[in-house]
Amino acid sequence: MNVLILGANGFMGNALSEKILATTDWHVYGMDLSTNKIQGLLPNARFHFVEGDISIHREWVEYHVKKCDVILPLVAIATPASYVRDPLGVFELDFEENLRVIRLCQRYKKRLLFPSTSEVYGMCRDAEFSEETSNFVYGPIHKSRWIYACSKQLLDRVIAAMGQTQGLRFTCFRPFNWIGPKLDDIYAPKEGSSRVVTQFIVSLLDGEPIRVVDGGHQRRCYTWIEDGIDGLMRIIRGDDEACNGEIFNLGNPDNECSVRELADKLAQLYAKSYRHLPGYREPRIEEVSATEFYGKGYEDIMTRTPSIAKARTALGWNPRVSLDEALARTLDHFVRERQEIEGATTGSSPSNDTLRKVSSAH
Ligand code: UDP
Repeated sequence: MNVLILGANGFMGNALSEKILATTDWHVYGMDLSTNKIQGLLPNARFHFVEGDISIHREWVEYHVKKCDVILPLVAIATPASYVRDPLGVFELDFEENLRVIRLCQRYKKRLLFPSTSEVYGMCRDAEFSEETSNFVYGPIHKSRWIYACSKQLLDRVIAAMGQTQGLRFTCFRPFNWIGPKLDDIYAPKEGSSRVVTQFIVSLLDGEPIRVVDGGHQRRCYTWIEDGIDGLMRIIRGDDEACNGEIFNLGNPDNECSVRELADKLAQLYAKSYRHLPGYREPRIEEVSATEFYGKGYEDIMTRTPSIAKARTALGWNPRVSLDEALARTLDHFVRERQEIEGATTGSSPSNDTLRKVSSAH
């Protein structure tokens, strides 16, 4: 089977490419702007990667939609700070460029696996969000945060309509706060454009205070990346009856916690496991208002818990990795990555002693 992954160097794209290459005999065709997360995959003869921009290299994209069996357009801006700062950029990439790819899937009769988002539910008050019954709740236009949710929601509707009236074969999936290695670029938090777990970890590594927005009462269900990828593999392998025309929430409801609890957990983990690292500073947590942190166009989501009954039944999917384990593994990855970068810039590799402390931490 040939799988096309647009955004193969992204958080999901690199993890999915790695899983496919390691566990199947399929070929992966990929495009992305850069290659920092897929260095280890590039030598693989079944990984056919081209560095490029889907909004520019449209002929390459069309040719490969034609060539491949399953299409995953994973290119998107997916960090809330960007929805506020660059709402049009979010619309142009996340909506317009992806619509182009969706239309190609329709034209060439290819199976589409589309990343919707848990964000589509917006400020829905349901205790658990259901793919079948929950309403989508967004704020007014001047709250530009919602442009991402609206863009994704409309694409979900376009895809469903193409399925209904033109026979498009598709499955949409909604990730709920997936976390793990390579979640965001380690330097992205400097620009305020990474997700909360990366933001907190990099603050710890920099000896800066963790900044909790509006008291940190917001709750999320953090899901280990490999659990999410397991869900995707089940969808790719899944038959038409279970998957065609369906939408699946992919999140771990057991891993729900508030942003404040998340800050405490990461601070404790860091203090317990890494206090012997050079440059270590005691974790500090401070509060910041949403307006100060994100700007006036921001509005928060207080709870976001998936119902995963559908994925359990149709796919046999069960997320397994606990929040504590997922955080420990993610923190471990970022500590190592930082050490490798520092080793490279000082011309020396991290001392064996330091690495031993890091690798034995969990
Ligand atoms: N948040 C925070 N401090 C940060 C970054 C984010 O308190 O440094 C909060 C943010 O307001 C939101 C939650 O953490 O309530 C999750 O943010 P994330 O960027 O991961 O995206 P979301 O889950 O909202 O899509």
